[in-house]
Amino acid sequence: MQNISSIAYKNEFVKSFPGDESGEKQPRQTPGVLYSRVSPTPVSGPTLLAWSDALSAELGILKPATQEDIAVLAGNGLAPSMQPYAACYAGHQFGNWAGQLGDGRAITLGEHEVSPGNSWELQLKGAGPTPYSRRADGRAVLRSSVREYLMSEAMHYLRVPTTRALSLVRTGDQVLRDMFYNGNAAHEPGAIVLRTAPSFLRFGNFELLAARKELDNLRQLTDWTMARYFPHLQGGRDEKLLAWFEEVVERTARLMVEWLRVGFVHGVMNTDNMSVLGLTIDYGPFSFLDDYDPAFTPNTTDLPGRRYAFGQQHAIGYWNLGCLASALAPLLPDTEKLVATLETYRESFYRHYYAMMGNKLGLDEVRDTDKAFIKQFEETLATLKPDMTIFYQLLMTLPPHPADAQAVLDHFSESFYQTPNHEGATALFRLMTRYDARRQENICTPAEALQLMQESNPRFILRNYLLHQAIEELERGEDQLFRQLQEAIKTPYTTDADAFFAKRPEWASQKAGCSMLSCSS
Ligand code: AMP
Ligand code: MG
Repeated sequence: MQNISSIAYKNEFVKSFPGDESGEKQPRQTPGVLYSRVSPTPVSGPTLLAWSDALSAELGILKPATQEDIAVLAGNGLAPSMQPYAACYAGHQFGNWAGQLGDGRAITLGEHEVSPGNSWELQLKGAGPTPYSRRADGRAVLRSSVREYLMSEAMHYLRVPTTRALSLVRTGDQVLRDMFYNGNAAHEPGAIVLRTAPSFLRFGNFELLAARKELDNLRQLTDWTMARYFPHLQGGRDEKLLAWFEEVVERTARLMVEWLRVGFVHGVMNTDNMSVLGLTIDYGPFSFLDDYDPAFTPNTTDLPGRRYAFGQQHAIGYWNLGCLASALAPLLPDTEKLVATLETYRESFYRHYYAMMGNKLGLDEVRDTDKAFIKQFEETLATLKPDMTIFYQLLMTLPPHPADAQAVLDHFSESFYQTPNHEGATALFRLMTRYDARRQENICTPAEALQLMQESNPRFILRNYLLHQAIEELERGEDQLFRQLQEAIKTPYTTDADAFFAKRPEWASQKAGCSMLSCSS
């Protein structure tokens, strides 16, 4: 175990690529480089609000005990070996090419090599302006930092690929935000999350270089990414690039399926928020589903088109991979194989999807006839809109041979936001009769099926209204709920956090921050 300020950090990204070394923070275009060297801007009064003991044990980093170590978490100090930088990337936002974006408020401090081949990029989010801040301030508010800190760790414990969060500090400074985009800007407490992942490389890092026709840089970045994060890939240059893209396609498909499994809606699936490692990245106006509504988007900016709604995410994953494919195309002699690789997405997505649904439903295998059942299951849920998490929990205890529609209705009553009408109740009864018959055909034992379901269906999810309440408390200087949630996220498949086993309360359904959010963070 080492202190964060005394680790010998590697700076392979900085060493491997051309960068803008000026240290200038003026917003600007930076052609020809993959990053800008920039130091965090100090804050006035950093205090440590949260620290992830589990992650720090994995990384071999000691909990900061001195002001010197806390200073690193706040951007007020650097370890001698750190060479901080902001990465330059581009992206498609809401389907439109947005040009250069880059880390506008995230600064990578260095890479911590835990062991050979196991390296973690440490990044401060909210550490002050960079050349990519455009007109914004480079800061993050407590509200959004608490959300990222808790949610990324919650996703980790749900076994969904994600970036992680090591620490959360209050900066002691105020940050001005127009939360509702209605001209009523207000000051909010500022905060900084230290987040970490093997890499924060995005589809947008590759798109930027292709758009700028910097093909040497593009080639170098793909070679570096493959060698460092996909060392198992074999073959000549072109085959290897295709194999890499195929793996990104596969990882993205798996990620979309994992989001479906737990009911996660990212909210801003722009290509600059898509990780080439297939991680959930950049937590903003995300939400878990409360009521099962495939058209739900938590992002108020996304309301007009619902592009990033829950039920759209897998299609957007494919669309985004298409952008990555276009960026890689100049590196290949022809695009035929690239397109064919992109087209493996569908098969990969559905393979993982049906396996996942089979597990959620406790089926020993997914037969062709089960696929029609799964469709019917999802359609019924989308019609009745029960609480997704509670519904699946109750499914585990559905008694054999459901007697009639009323008995089924009673069984699931805890999950309904609105009691189904006669038609809905009949549809549910039919569905459950069919389900009961199918599960009796399982080769595995009921106990084994139950175990499968318990491992696939979370019982605790970090609902937006809980986050909202925890944030309100923190803003008042209390941290009781925050601490409870920090524990609850660790065992989401158990009854440990049953104090929170309840639907979203009625008051939270329309309240800002409890259901929907703006991007303003
Ligand atoms: P997002 O959609 O939140 O991932 O951000 C899109 C782009 O806006 C990225 O380039 C971010 O770095 C940048 N950005 C978001 N918020 C800020 C901020 N407060 N200051 C500077 N840049 C920001
Ligand atoms: Mg982003």
